[in-house]
Amino acid sequence: MTEKLPQSRHLATEIPGPLSTAAMQRRSEAVSGGLGTAIPVIIKRASDAILEDIDGNRIIDLGSGIGVTTVGNAAPLVVERVQAAVAAFTHTNFTTAPYMGYIEVCEALNRLTPGDFKKKSLLQNSGAEAVENAIKIARHYTKRPAIVVFEHAYHGRTNLTMALTAKNVPYKEGFGPFANEIYRMPMPYSYRWVGDQTTISEDALKMVTTKIEKEIGAHNVAAILIEPIQGEGGFIVPPKGFLPGLSKFATDNKIVFIADEVQSGFARTGDWFAVNNENVVPDMIVTAKGIAGGLPLAAVTARAEIMDSSHIGGLGGTYGGNPIACAAALAAIEIIESEKLVDRARHLEEILTTSLKAIAAKHPEIGEIRGRGAMIAIELVKAGTKDPNPELMGKVIKYCQSKGVLILTAGSYGNVIRFLPPLVITDELLADALDVLTEAFDAVA
Ligand SMILES: *Cc1c(COP(=O)(O)O)cnc(C)c1O
Repeated sequence: MTEKLPQSRHLATEIPGPLSTAAMQRRSEAVSGGLGTAIPVIIKRASDAILEDIDGNRIIDLGSGIGVTTVGNAAPLVVERVQAAVAAFTHTNFTTAPYMGYIEVCEALNRLTPGDFKKKSLLQNSGAEAVENAIKIARHYTKRPAIVVFEHAYHGRTNLTMALTAKNVPYKEGFGPFANEIYRMPMPYSYRWVGDQTTISEDALKMVTTKIEKEIGAHNVAAILIEPIQGEGGFIVPPKGFLPGLSKFATDNKIVFIADEVQSGFARTGDWFAVNNENVVPDMIVTAKGIAGGLPLAAVTARAEIMDSSHIGGLGGTYGGNPIACAAALAAIEIIESEKLVDRARHLEEILTTSLKAIAAKHPEIGEIRGRGAMIAIELVKAGTKDPNPELMGKVIKYCQSKGVLILTAGSYGNVIRFLPPLVITDELLADALDVLTEAFDAVA
């Protein structure tokens, strides 16, 4: 096996360097213009929290490929298991000829997800595909049509999941018509909530449950689908009590309560799943991103009676639960457990929030610091107001990139900087990245 890259930032050229710039030209000739680029460099190698580009720059990765490489990029155990798995066999299709990796990933999911009832799982390729299957299964089980979703939600880019997603540009614009029987509810986004902060949970719950009862009819609702911490929407954390109240309403009305933990799951928030924080036990939980150390895998895990509702052949797909991705997932789960990455996420929260508070003390453009564990964001506004400040966000991100720090953005108003470092990032490397961020604010704010 090749040696790990040094876990330090290094600028060999400007960013982007000449080789990346030339390659990006080829990219624009060959690749669909519908795809964006966060940082215009071409990656050659990566280890843990360092990306090395073809010009020899070593960039600190605070995005983990959108919350995917939780256990580190090219984590040695993942690489070893993947190499063994790919040499053993590449594919059979699980519904054609089963294999143990698939079964073992399902066993692990059933064990790790909250709820002491009997659970079963289904594996798919992507978060969106898993969300689609969750909705299919909930409708089949309840024999009801309606799906309840929330403002600022993100659930994917397929036709059904675009309809479930809140934000129009860029996700939905011009891509309709969309699926029907989807109802969007107010989200208690505390920073922008106009009502009383002390009763936000009760007030939001009342609004949501009244709307469900009056506008849909609770008996028509198959599922309530929510991200326990909203990801693309800008790391919006529901106020205490909201998720438990929603879950109780779902249970009382025989509605399947689905947690989309695609971004917030797998140790990211300092718990195995974000719902653990308030002891919420969803009927169904959707996972992807951090599940398999970078390989494409996603899952639906739910009460056994829900997962068994479908007739044989009703669920499936060619690649879902590919054996190589399953080997990677088992390795990633082993790493999260043995390296205590759940605790490590809480430790990273402290480092992140300490630095961010220090920056915010100097820069009133940081309206709010929020999130949990290693899923932390800052919302940028015009000083003294709550008006979104996407211009400043752009400048800060660009400055950081030019110094070799990759940071992602988010938010319904395009004004949120989000931090999703690999959980194995060293304290020193994270501190270096946060020094660059501090410098960026001092330079451009
Ligand atoms: C990324 C994401 C999805 C979609 O996952 P893909 O693998 O990109 O299809 C769904 N839900 C949430 C919360 C996500 O963050």
